[in-house]
Amino acid sequence: MTQNALTGDNLLPQFDILDIGQIEPTINRLVADLEKHLSELETNIEPTWDGSIERLTQMREPLNFAWDLVNHMMSVQDSPELRKAHEAAQPTVVALNLRLSQSEPIYRTLKDLRSGPQWKTLDEGRRRVVEEKILDAELRGVGLEGKQKARFQDIEKELAELSTKFENNLLDATKAFSMTLTQKDEVEGLPETLLGMTAQSAALAESESTSQPARTLDPQAGPWRITLDGPIYAGFMQHARRQDLREKLYRANIEKASAKELDNQPIVLRILKLRREMSALLGYKTYAEVSLARKMAADVPAVGQLLDELRGVALPRSRSELADLTTFAREQSGETNLDLKHWDVAFWAERRSEQLFGYTDEELRPYFALPRVLAGLFEITNRMFGVSFKSADGETTVWDPSVQFFKVLDADGDHIAYFYLDPYSRPQNKRGGAWMNFIRSRHVQEDGSVQLPVVWLICNQSPPVGDQPSLMSFEEVNTLFHEFGHGLQHMLTKVDFPEASGVNNIEWDAVELASTFMQNWCYHKATILGLAKHFETGDPLPDELFEKIRAARTYLSGSTVARQVYLSEVDMELHHEFDPNSGESPVERSKKVALRNIPMQPLPEDRAICGFAHIFAGSYAAGYYSYAWAAVLAADAFAVFEEEGTDDAAKINKVGRRFADTFMALGGTRHPMDVFKDFRGRAPTTEPLLKQLGLK
Ligand code: ZN
Repeated sequence: MTQNALTGDNLLPQFDILDIGQIEPTINRLVADLEKHLSELETNIEPTWDGSIERLTQMREPLNFAWDLVNHMMSVQDSPELRKAHEAAQPTVVALNLRLSQSEPIYRTLKDLRSGPQWKTLDEGRRRVVEEKILDAELRGVGLEGKQKARFQDIEKELAELSTKFENNLLDATKAFSMTLTQKDEVEGLPETLLGMTAQSAALAESESTSQPARTLDPQAGPWRITLDGPIYAGFMQHARRQDLREKLYRANIEKASAKELDNQPIVLRILKLRREMSALLGYKTYAEVSLARKMAADVPAVGQLLDELRGVALPRSRSELADLTTFAREQSGETNLDLKHWDVAFWAERRSEQLFGYTDEELRPYFALPRVLAGLFEITNRMFGVSFKSADGETTVWDPSVQFFKVLDADGDHIAYFYLDPYSRPQNKRGGAWMNFIRSRHVQEDGSVQLPVVWLICNQSPPVGDQPSLMSFEEVNTLFHEFGHGLQHMLTKVDFPEASGVNNIEWDAVELASTFMQNWCYHKATILGLAKHFETGDPLPDELFEKIRAARTYLSGSTVARQVYLSEVDMELHHEFDPNSGESPVERSKKVALRNIPMQPLPEDRAICGFAHIFAGSYAAGYYSYAWAAVLAADAFAVFEEEGTDDAAKINKVGRRFADTFMALGGTRHPMDVFKDFRGRAPTTEPLLKQLGLK
């Protein structure tokens, strides 16, 4: 028999025998198998845990493994052949998953299980899984009948099309705008990297219009093409000295995708109307209520209260930050009557930051060599949770030679998990950004054997050069801690069934807690000074440099929080209070929200919600608040360590064990608010976050 990496015969994927040619036939076969098993299950499913959920889990595992592996390879080892194979196999997988999520026999059986004799014998975690599966099915309209069901499905279909249209308009509108600068004075102030990026963009545009291969343009000589693309836009607004050009770019950005054939305004309104109608079909008043049915936040007022508390402190602070910035800009420019315009704020904020903190990424990098950072991260994790990490390179195959492999051992030395670390950027075949994902979840099988969790942590940091190790920016260190936090939650789980072990079944607004929590250690002096040593001289990071990093964390935090609260409230308001059938425009409504949230009001022509893809093309609708929510939880949890004393190993361990027994152990078996209370002894408060950001 030929070997096939996709059949998942071993716990760990065998990357050495992964054959792209096998993808399509294998996926098709696994889909057919699952379809057959599903049909059987639907005819003889039983209202017991083993007779329903456990069987379903077992039958889904082979396809899940194979498909997760293919998707993983797409993001870390992309190639035209792989993309083709993925594209060919995808429709059948999508169709099958839709069928699974719409299965009425499964839904009815789970309801029978809930009202049947076995229910009271199930533990809390299993009951929660059943409850959530019933709720998920209902939120997807499975409980509806007849005309209502048909209407629901039409709405879902139209909503999917509208999201795509929204996204495409946004992309096209972003691409449609550019300004090509040819004079040196027009790009005055731009840093070297930005000159390089914009010169490259000019060369590519030129080659597209002439169908000639792209020339290499001299970053110093130009021309430079300025676009609305994230990094270029942000960099230009922060650094360009020409105010008139900043204004032009700013105005283009706030009017993006809001006119003519690329107008997202009617799409936004239609989306809001359909979401409202869909909510009514499901028995909810608004879409915000639908969204919150499956979140940690109890209800709309609970989100409102959190936002109110943050706003109460952040708004006055953001006003004084703006006033300070104005004073600074007046001093620096010599214009005593200067009033900051929208397109001036980022520019002067950046100048002030340079003056206040005056360190660069490049200065810090030599102190953050990957091997040392990892050792420090392992050490603090060990101190908290008692777990240890053993390098196991060579004990299995990997997808790229730079990938590292580790075993995780608990305090008794028992092996509990594996993880892969793929640290470096590989623009030729690896997606940007950083993420944690997993290929196995903890599962104790019927025969007592244990399937261990297997996780991958993917970063995109600077690769090593020659025999110099990877030297990380402080932001890259933060990212590594963040993803490691996600990974730990999946690996340290004590739950025995995969539906709720690790990060499975954890609410969306709670799942960023463990990751954001770990980032707090990046600002903990003893931890950072312990790991930050110059890679050549071994000198520790100078104290004053650490203090500057710490001070930079709170710089303009009032404005940052106020803006986050503002966007969260626009999202909540449009999906709750706002009546899409009232004739009022969502753009006007979002301006009313701005009045009570931010010190500088949007311009009359500002239609920035036409670019709010998180809520109109992504999955953050009535969920944007999750960013603020998770930050509050993480700071509040970290505060316990600070209250007990972070300089005492025994105390770190004491609190750490409690953290391990709650957040890390329980996965999705318990409501996250209860888990939080188990750890904290009370519900979360905003106080610690506000303190951490220097707002109290
Ligand atoms: Zn995250």
